[in-house]
Amino acid sequence: MANYNIHIHIFNEPCYPPNMMGWMVGLLRSFPLWALQGLTQLSKSTPLRYAYFLEYALKRSQYDILQDLRRLYQEAGLGDFRFVVLTLDMDYNGAGKAQVDYLTQLRQVIELKAQHPDLIYPLLCIHPDRFQNASKLLAFAQNHIPQKGFVGIKLYPAMGFFPDDPRLFELYEWCEAAQIPILMHTIKGSVYYRGDLSKFANHPRVIYPLYKNNKEFQRNFTEVGQFSKALFPDNRKNPGVFDLFPQLKFCFAHFGGTDFTWNQDIVTLINGVNGGNNNIYTDISYVHSDAKFVASKVLPPLKTNPLLSTKLLFGTDFYMTEQEGREPKVLHQFFKQLRENQLQLTAITETNCQRFLNSKVFSAP
Ligand SMILES: [Zn+2]
Repeated sequence: MANYNIHIHIFNEPCYPPNMMGWMVGLLRSFPLWALQGLTQLSKSTPLRYAYFLEYALKRSQYDILQDLRRLYQEAGLGDFRFVVLTLDMDYNGAGKAQVDYLTQLRQVIELKAQHPDLIYPLLCIHPDRFQNASKLLAFAQNHIPQKGFVGIKLYPAMGFFPDDPRLFELYEWCEAAQIPILMHTIKGSVYYRGDLSKFANHPRVIYPLYKNNKEFQRNFTEVGQFSKALFPDNRKNPGVFDLFPQLKFCFAHFGGTDFTWNQDIVTLINGVNGGNNNIYTDISYVHSDAKFVASKVLPPLKTNPLLSTKLLFGTDFYMTEQEGREPKVLHQFFKQLRENQLQLTAITETNCQRFLNSKVFSAP
């Protein structure tokens, strides 16, 4: 059975809208690669650390990033890995117009998948604002999965929508029936909706209305509690996504980040608060680079909850993690931490990922 990295990115800098990550990254993006490499020799403690991942973003093509990653894994003796490539629709997050739009990014990934059918397994990013209605959204997904090599869905609500947006319902119904996996970005990060917030002013899902700036407001979009009435009994008059689609195969990425409430809510959902949805997963990407976080927040529940160890997926969030450390170094440290705690690597990198990816339209090797 193959090893999987369930969460990587290979879209490059021309795919980023001008204001995608604020002014500092905007400025760094105008630097030539040699200057960025010079900067990475300096401190890691300032926003200069963005230069680390821009080194990758500035590669000529998505193909070059993929080749680099493959070489890194081979050189580090990490074994035979397959990569789940997460595409990202950045055309509707109010940050301006990128040089390379999302549909072009997808065409490049489709080409790469045709060239490397056994190496990459892409997920199709869906932003509901792209579509006039639920049927058009579903038709778009069905046109890509599995025909064009895509094996599941990527959702990034922090880009400016709520997971229970009715435009997503026909998609959810199809995914639930065919057990097609959905992976959702679940961390408060530096990529979020940068447009006008007033259009969400009276939205019933806004539970943190005091967050007037976009960075804080993203919490509303990604809130794990909104997925089940059982998690938010007082605030939830409307059913959550799992109340409506109880067998949806769903992965909360990044274990909810360093937000302890989200970590706990994800474990509660995995434990089956929602009438026993046993299709809920979480991935360890990005936070695996923080050894202290892993030791204090991930290992304890993993050791005491055997169910969680069947639901944790191995992923890294490459190349976003380059600002935390080089991929092989971070990985060796994380694997060592698991081994020292007698935790099974094979479940996390093989069986769990395979089970998550398998569906009625795709069989994971
Ligand atoms: Zn990611």
